[in-house]
Amino acid sequence: MVLKLESVTKQFGQFTAVDQLSLEIPNQEMFGFLGANGAGKTTTFRMILGLLDATDGKITWDGKAIDYSTSHLVGYLPEERGLYPKLKVREQLIYLARLRGMPKNEALIELRLWLDRFKIPEYENKKVEELSKGNQQKIQFIAAVLHKPKLLILDEPFSGLDPVNVEMLKEAVLALKENGATIVFSSHRMEHVEEMCEHLCILHKGSPVVYGSLKEIKRNFGKKNLVIHADFKLDGLKDFPGVVKSKPTMEGIHLQIDGEAAADKILKEIVGKGFIRKFALEEPSLNDIFIEEVGNSYE
Ligand code: ATP
Repeated sequence: MVLKLESVTKQFGQFTAVDQLSLEIPNQEMFGFLGANGAGKTTTFRMILGLLDATDGKITWDGKAIDYSTSHLVGYLPEERGLYPKLKVREQLIYLARLRGMPKNEALIELRLWLDRFKIPEYENKKVEELSKGNQQKIQFIAAVLHKPKLLILDEPFSGLDPVNVEMLKEAVLALKENGATIVFSSHRMEHVEEMCEHLCILHKGSPVVYGSLKEIKRNFGKKNLVIHADFKLDGLKDFPGVVKSKPTMEGIHLQIDGEAAADKILKEIVGKGFIRKFALEEPSLNDIFIEEVGNSYE
């Protein structure tokens, strides 16, 4: 059940929103889409779901296009949330699950499990408009997953949620993956993708500038981070050979270096000058990679 995009392009008039995008998302994978505003994430999701026709290229899931015949296997949390404000949570979610072929009783059991899990059982008979924005978002998430989709597409699932709810939703998404769903999600927050995804794609102006496994991407980036906490001045290290960037911190200094050899030399340089509380060589963060690939224009 591979989701496959082959040279997918979307043009709106003269403007190319997605440009020759090719990727493969294997079954039971958690795949992250990153990109600045307007990079083409939502457009890509809409094309995957068949809501928008690609101008060129091909999208298949298990060898076939996603259309009405597979809609019961697919769940989608759109970026613009769209629940009916005047309808009660239960009426609306049962209705949506039934549209996707789920029997009413089964839908109700599932709904109650989800409301309990999200600690909002009391909202079952409330109108959507009576709920806070964050709780409406949890309801919309339930709407996307109630029918137990095999492929779940989540457009910015964590935006607008408080930290407790972000954690709750993350756990739910991870559990769905453990249960066999393939999950594709977009986020502006690097740490969400970093924590949750084995594979990812960074889109920049419709093109994939980074694509592959998180581990490989970090390894191939070459540069590493060196965190030093010490009781003596470290400012001089900014000009040390192999140092690409430096940022003083309260406890010492954060350096971006061009490889492990530089760390070794830096250690030799500072040993004996005073007390070193921390000397840690770390993989680059996704944020470092994003900034280098997409530039500081990222909002
Ligand atoms: P964001 O993070 O801001 O949600 P995104 O990566 O999801 O951005 P898209 O919504 O896919 O980006 O938009 C990509 C580009 O395509 C944008 O420049 C947008 O203005 C343009 N675009 C999207 N839909 C249309 C449309 N229906 N007609 C014309 N242009 C469009």
